[in-house]
Amino acid sequence: MNTNTPATPRQPRAIETLVQGIATSDGAGVKLTRIIHGNKLQRRLDPFLMLDAFGSNDPDEYIAGFPDHPHRGFETITYMLAGRMRHRDSAGHEGLLEDGCVQWMTAARGVIHSEIPQQKDGVMEGFQLWLNLPAQRKMDAPWYRDFPADAIPQYVTPAGVTVRVIAGISNGIEGAVLRATTEPLYLDVHLPPGSTFSTALPDDHNAFVYVYRGAAMIEGVEATAHYMSILANTPCSDGVTVSATSAEETRLILVAGKPLNEPIVQYGPFVMNTQDEVRQAMDDYRSGRFA
Ligand code: FE
Repeated sequence: MNTNTPATPRQPRAIETLVQGIATSDGAGVKLTRIIHGNKLQRRLDPFLMLDAFGSNDPDEYIAGFPDHPHRGFETITYMLAGRMRHRDSAGHEGLLEDGCVQWMTAARGVIHSEIPQQKDGVMEGFQLWLNLPAQRKMDAPWYRDFPADAIPQYVTPAGVTVRVIAGISNGIEGAVLRATTEPLYLDVHLPPGSTFSTALPDDHNAFVYVYRGAAMIEGVEATAHYMSILANTPCSDGVTVSATSAEETRLILVAGKPLNEPIVQYGPFVMNTQDEVRQAMDDYRSGRFA
């Protein structure tokens, strides 16, 4: 059996909503588009808490980077499509993020880290996704890994679609990171013009597609570029099918995860289950009790 041949879902998922991000800046003034934000989207896309897309060839929009700042209670996944960024954190981890690299940081009970561009010009482009941790894992020790582009498993379908499997399992191919509980799936899918791609998705997992090049259709509806297409949790659906409609190569990320169904209390970079836990996080950070 060729595990690279995607099985077409019997009842593919459709687009429920298109969400346009908001233009904002973070860190020391990095311009970005915040796509997942606010309690309503956090509940709808549980276990995902935030998605930022950044992309600019103007150094003024990224050069200041993200100086030292804390996180507690979740994981951050940074996918660099293009650019060079140096990461350092208080748990002693350091890494250089380059073109096609993925950085997976489990902040858990707390890290203070910085992400500083190592380029003076050129394109800086990528995504940062925040993945929640279950209540019983929020105070675990921090964890960090970066994966150079060639360490991310990928497969090519018979239709010529290239799929980079950052997390989870797609069509039998295991990704760079596997996580229990939230079971995240994170794919970067490159579709030649006119090609179609399918992958399985458990129907209770919340899922979205973000097209960042070209154009795509999902169940007859356009997954508009630079919008997030939230996929309906159709009962008895077992996956998603995406077709490229652009004359150029279409590129998109497809992200899914199992909801935690736990209370989400966020104050900036701290995401816990109760107000008391958030107050404790602020107190621990101010008193220098982060790693
Ligand atoms: Fe950060």
